[in-house]
Amino acid sequence: MTTLPRPPYLLAAAWLLPIAAPPLVDGAVRVDPDGRLGAVGPRSALSAAHPALPIVDLGPCALLPGLVNVHAHPELTLLRHALEDLPLHSWIPALRARTARWTPEDFDLAARWGLVEALRAGITTVAATEASGASAAALREAGLRGVVYVEAFGPDPARVDDAWADLERRLAAVARHASELVRMGVSPHAPYSVSDALYRRVAATAAERDLDVATHIAESAAEVELVRRAEGPWAAALRARGLTVAPRARSPVDLLARTGVLERAPLLVHAVHIDEEDTAQIAASGARVAHCPVANAKLGHGVAPVPELLGAGVRLGLGTDSVAANNRLDLLDEGRAATLLQRARCADATLLPARQVLRLLTLGGAEALGWADRIGSLEPGKDADLCAVRLDGPHVRPVADVEAALVHAARASDVVLTMVRGRPLYDGRRVLTLDEAALADVVERRATELSQP
Ligand SMILES: [Zn+2]
Repeated sequence: MTTLPRPPYLLAAAWLLPIAAPPLVDGAVRVDPDGRLGAVGPRSALSAAHPALPIVDLGPCALLPGLVNVHAHPELTLLRHALEDLPLHSWIPALRARTARWTPEDFDLAARWGLVEALRAGITTVAATEASGASAAALREAGLRGVVYVEAFGPDPARVDDAWADLERRLAAVARHASELVRMGVSPHAPYSVSDALYRRVAATAAERDLDVATHIAESAAEVELVRRAEGPWAAALRARGLTVAPRARSPVDLLARTGVLERAPLLVHAVHIDEEDTAQIAASGARVAHCPVANAKLGHGVAPVPELLGAGVRLGLGTDSVAANNRLDLLDEGRAATLLQRARCADATLLPARQVLRLLTLGGAEALGWADRIGSLEPGKDADLCAVRLDGPHVRPVADVEAALVHAARASDVVLTMVRGRPLYDGRRVLTLDEAALADVVERRATELSQP
């Protein structure tokens, strides 16, 4: 790709997908010096209106809003391919045993490496749910937009003060990196790792400080067994730690309602094992959903009822989850998996058409993160967060339907431009903000060292 000039300039492509409006052939946007989109429309109309502005022609590409990854754990990127073929109740302890040996620098390295991949995949916004919060500094360095939800852990109600003190320390560390582009939130981890008392404390503090909340919920059948009946592998694991385990609620979603978390309209990560009553509760609360179809399938959890959630009016975006459960941050692939899995689940070829998937990957994600006023669609006045995807590869051509081409054929490696608020971060040849080559060397070496027994 040619080097971009200083704004203002016109960025033109064979296809433009504003998302808020149907796709255009030969479209363009005007990128302004304030990092916003000044105009969006047919290339001929924009060049006629701005004859003095330079035009950068991206060629056989689709230009669309930057992809929004509503759930990831960049801090865990060193664990790619390291925890294969385990059920979640074994996967989580294996992950903890591994990361217990990591230094803060290892989490920083992992986060940066994860963001290199995101930049190359056209992802412009990353919601990072993390214990270390390493993504806060990494997002800033990468120039990406994001939310860092700092995780709270503590299944023992007698130790809620300790869990809280530990969370406060990490929240303060992340707060130092907060900016207009990097927001922070809080995340009680999951029902098997958080006591009701800790849920209540997080909900109350989030309300006091106006902090956004994200939480893993209703991910597995085992989690439902724990919450509803105090049975199953999670109950056994908690009892083995000497904790008292009793039925807590009708369902995991109901547990959030009983502890005040649902009142915060949180971002619900997974929401696979939910029934009609849960869906109604989610919709009534205004909570949002992060749908992670590949991780849910890979860990053997099932398929979230996405058409039902969307039908109930729930705001929903797509997330990759961590590379330890996926194994890559390819949101186009995630969108394809979302469609295929729903169609397989419901035996219905009309579910999640490509246009709807592209909306979920962009505006849907922006809505799920409360950022739709700035990003998610290409409209004048919004920030120039965008990506361009080449559509001339042999796996994509001929392009009879640009939306289907993007969702069902294109992949992360076809991305040639990633830009946040008018600042190019990846230009099709190299990542411009992080030193990919230097990181690659260290990542290989350190991951190998850390995998030794
Ligand atoms: Zn997760």
